[in-house]
Parts: sequence; C-alpha cells; structure tokens
Amino acid sequence: MKLDATDLRYISSDAFRVLSAAEQGSKNHEIVPSSLIAQIAGSRSGGVNKALGELAKKKLVAKVQNAKYEGYRLTYGGYDFLACRTFAKRDTIYSVGNQIGTGKESDIYVVADHEGQQMVMKIHRLGRMSFRAIKSKRDYLRKGQSASWMYMSRLAAIKEFAFMKVLHDHGFPVPQPIDQSRHCLIMELIDAFPLRQISAVPSPGALYSLLMDMIVRLARSGLIHGDFNEFNLLIRDHRTEAEKDRDDETPDERDARIAREGGDHPVRVELEGEEYEERRRREREGTLLEPVLIDFPQMVSTDHADAEYYFNRDVECIRTFFARRFKYESSVFPKFTSVVRDGVREFDLDVEVAASGFRKEDKRALEEYMAELAAHDAEKGDEVASDEEYSDESAESEDGEDEAAAAASATAPAPAPALPAAGDADELARR
Ligand code: ADP
Ligand code: MG
Repeated sequence: MKLDATDLRYISSDAFRVLSAAEQGSKNHEIVPSSLIAQIAGSRSGGVNKALGELAKKKLVAKVQNAKYEGYRLTYGGYDFLACRTFAKRDTIYSVGNQIGTGKESDIYVVADHEGQQMVMKIHRLGRMSFRAIKSKRDYLRKGQSASWMYMSRLAAIKEFAFMKVLHDHGFPVPQPIDQSRHCLIMELIDAFPLRQISAVPSPGALYSLLMDMIVRLARSGLIHGDFNEFNLLIRDHRTEAEKDRDDETPDERDARIAREGGDHPVRVELEGEEYEERRRREREGTLLEPVLIDFPQMVSTDHADAEYYFNRDVECIRTFFARRFKYESSVFPKFTSVVRDGVREFDLDVEVAASGFRKEDKRALEEYMAELAAHDAEKGDEVASDEEYSDESAESEDGEDEAAAAASATAPAPAPALPAAGDADELARR
C-alpha cells in the first residue's frame, strides 16, 4: 500500500466533510451505511453521493454492497489522507517525499515542514498481515463493529508516540517525537544506517557494551524494548572517511597498509595533538558510533508476565548478531534477575507511559495482538502477506490505476508540496 499524495491536495470541501463523516461512522461500522454518512455530514443526500463518488474515484473510500445495505468503507488511503491533513493543519508537515522503508507492519516516509526541515512519518499498518487468520482466534473488534485495522494501527501509533516521548524526555537515544494523528506519527529523521548495514566497527566490544548498557538502563526504568535488534538500532557514524576505510580493511589489506605506512594510525594523518588524543579516547569508548533506538510498539513493562523472556531475547539478539557479524563474543551479558531483582528503579517509565493517556485496555489489546501475530509469524515461517492479501481495496476498485499510482509514488523525487490547504471544513475527528 503506497501513500499516493500527488493529487490529494485537490479535494472539495464537501468531499472532505463527507470523508470525515465516513471516518466517524467507521468507529461503529466496518461498512458505514450511506445514510449514516449523510446524517453525520449533515448534507443533502444528492451532495453526499456526489462527494462519495469523488472520494471513491480517489480511492479514499470504497463502495461495498452487502446483503443488508449499501455502504462505504474508509480505505487505508483515506485514513492516510485524514492523518496527513491533520498534520498539515497543525503545520507539522508541508510535503511528503520518498518512502524509505516498508516493514511488515509499517511504511516509512520522509516528510518536510514549510522550511524544508526533513522528518520521518511512520504509518502503522497493522492488519496488513493476514488479519483474518488472527481474527479467527480472537475477536479484536471493539464493541460495535469498527474496522480492526484502523483500531489496531491507531493504537500502535499512540503507543509508539507515548513511549518515544517518555524515553526522549529521559535522555534515551531515540528520535525526537514530533506529532501523532490516527495511525501515523512524525519524528526526527536520524541520518544514519541501521546496524544491520554496518559491516565492520573499530571496537565491537565498546559498541556491544553501549548496547547492553542501554538494555539495562531501560530495564532499570521499568521497560523492555522487545525487538532490540540490528534493524531497530540506527548507528550515527562519527568516523572520518579514513577511519571507515581502515575499519573495512581485510587483515591482508591491513598488513599491507602497515608495511607501507609504518603502522601509523590513519587518524593521525588527519588530526594532531590533543584532537588526536580526544579522538582515540572516543574510539576506545566506542562513542564514535552512536546508536539510536527506534520502533516501540511492542515495548513491555518489566512487570509483564513474560518480561524475563523478552529481556533475554533482546540480549540474545545482540549477542548473536555480534558473534556472527563482528566475530565478537563475550561471556559478560546482563541477566534479567540481577538487573531487576533489587527492585531499584531509576524511573518508572512504564507508569509514566500509562499516565500519558495510553489506556490499560488498549495496552492489553495491542499486546495480545502482537503476541498472536508473533505466534502466527512463527507458524507461517515469517512469510509476508502479498499485497492482495491485505489490500482488498485493489480487488474492489473498478479501474486499474493502482499499479500506476504505486509506481508514480515509488519513483517520486524529493519532497513536493502535496498536502491539502488547511481550513476548508471542520475536522470531525482527531486522534
Ligand atoms: P517497523 O516497525 O516496520 O520495523 P521501524 O520503525 O523499525 O518500522 O522503521 C523501519 C525502517 O525505517 C528502519 O529500519 C529505518 O531504516 C527506517 N527508519 C525508521 N525510523 C527512522 C528515523 N526516525 N530516522 C531514520 N530512519 C528511520
Ligand atoms: Mg523495525
């Protein structure tokens, strides 16, 4: 599912009011009866039908004829549009640029504000994985019959934003959270590669300690990341080009260079005196590589029944990765029981997140969903659902514009103004 922002600017104020009405109706109906949309929008039905036609053409809603009534379903495109519009109205973002990531459960875009300052928009897409398989085991629909993908995706965004904010406020190295609406959040763009893409580091032991310290500090604050791995750690690299070249050398290349240069440290060529010493100190500490942690929807409290399991899994992920990638193995690693046994907590961040308005029942619903999804993944061998499986939008649309739109947005150049002008109609729903 691509975010096609190119012609979203052009939507009439009538259409916007009707789209907002469809969203409101979605809270209690997976398929919202046309009559209800008209009632919420407070418009004549002739006007509503015209607006619905316009919205369906832009694939912001999809017409569904079920046995009992004719209605419309808000599509992911429609939900994306509403969130983007809210961000634009709050002056958080002005343009949408390239997609930089597609996870199983999210899409990541670079966006920019009026000044061209770049940020990241994460769009949660829970339910992209075969939701039906999971739904068969448990009913995630809230009372009424709201669309489960909307509900779960929105919960994931609210939760991620709440955690990011609390972590950032307490000085953890995470992106700065900027805004959140519906299933989307805006955060600082980290100009760095995931650890996964880093082939060699000057001092694996130093980086390893830094990461284990982060896991411990989180746990001492009452939290476990739950997906602490090489994909969710972005590594800000403060090394010079010469240092990177040196770190990428094979042993043979290294020997050849030392023979050639008499073993001088390549940084000495670029820096002198105190500056050089400072550099070496940072290198020893491992602070030339600065990890930034991302991706928080699955975080759990250290009070969670399976906390020890999640904690050990995070630790194990890092150990396994360092052994495989950097041939670095250490017998020193944190143990859950010794980290949390004394009960001493620096902060109660799990309590702070709860106080941020992320409700208990929402927390439970999301945790259950995540756990079942993980179990489902394990069963299915981690296979990713095909587009058709999650996006029944394309199945229902009459014309074949999907591929063209997807291709256009995938190859879209740098951020271009793509958002609707603010203020043509009231916003019916916010978060
Ligand atoms: P998912 O839940 O799909 O794994 P992530 O939050 O881990 O989503 O983001 C997926 C990828 O997008 C990351 O591995 C990273 O490459 C990129 N990414 C996410 N957030 C940022 C950010 N704030 N700055 C830079 N890149 C990011
Ligand atoms: Mg991730």
